Amino acid sequence: MSFLKKIQEKFSSGRVEREVPQAPSPSPSAPARTPGAQAAPPKAGALERVKNLIAVGSGKGGVGKSTVALNLALSLAQEGFKVGIVDADIHGPSLQQMTRTGRPTMTDDDFLEPPEYEGVKVMSVAMFAPAGQAQIMRGPMVTQVIRQFLTQVNWGELDYLIVDLPPGTGDIHLTLAQMVPLSGAVLVTTPQEVSLLDVRKAVHMFQTVNVPILGVVENMSYFVCDGCDKKHFIFREGGGRKLAAEIGAPLLGELPIDPRVADSGDAGVAFVVSNPSSIVGQAYLEMAKQMKVQQAKLQRSGDGALGYFLLEWKQNV
Ligand code: ADP
Repeated sequence: MSFLKKIQEKFSSGRVEREVPQAPSPSPSAPARTPGAQAAPPKAGALERVKNLIAVGSGKGGVGKSTVALNLALSLAQEGFKVGIVDADIHGPSLQQMTRTGRPTMTDDDFLEPPEYEGVKVMSVAMFAPAGQAQIMRGPMVTQVIRQFLTQVNWGELDYLIVDLPPGTGDIHLTLAQMVPLSGAVLVTTPQEVSLLDVRKAVHMFQTVNVPILGVVENMSYFVCDGCDKKHFIFREGGGRKLAAEIGAPLLGELPIDPRVADSGDAGVAFVVSNPSSIVGQAYLEMAKQMKVQQAKLQRSGDGALGYFLLEWKQNV
């Protein structure tokens, strides 16, 4: 049975996955890029023409990670790059709602052809399940879905594949870090300490698996009220800047709370598409440029060089 059919059946029946063998969970204390790590390398053809894999992560959910991931992807596309985005937030997928793309189709050689939104290839588990239905899956099944999204999707030639991670530092993060050569990570936080506390853990995780941090995005930094035109720092001020300084990474942007951003997400029209010349739209473009600069810097200094997993992958194709 094809992958698409299997996955559709599982999700539409709402069945808890039982037949997937319990793979040993990678331990955070065992850094990923060690020879002999257990993850299977991606098949040739899925990611071999993807130049950069960028993870977008956060400590907590609800800070705007998916919104940032999507708008960043679209800004890179507006800059002329070929871009894809994969929703690795299996239990809380929102990219399909934000883009309203259809389902992927199947190619003759059993690969999924991802639908496109504004020229960006999109893949999300939500494309296979009716709206409102939970993805009832155990850890190994989730890991398998992520693996298939990366190895059985016809991503083609891409300059950037953006990976929208689940919040926190779980199995999916380690699977990804072990399985594919992540070129870097962008971390999204809101300004208050409660968000920074968790995002620091994500920083630690990426550092442990040798994924360079390309920058910090502070979302929901302030609100400019209609009445007084003043910036109101609802969730405190400067948290993202403080974190960026702490970890020696650039602050890529401080994005205001703008109710139109939430409206866009709900309506399935990304904000940089509907409001490209707004403050937020321009901030995203600037962010995309800065991210590229930081990546180039890291590559020159050697810190951004892809590590062992790329070598392992190339040897195996
Ligand atoms: P996460 O991926 O971190 O869970 P989402 O990207 O799904 O967060 O965003 C959560 C909600 O906040 C969504 O409704 C989104 O539209 C909204 N949102 C995100 N950023 C902003 C912003 N800067 N201003 C207003 N609403 C925002």
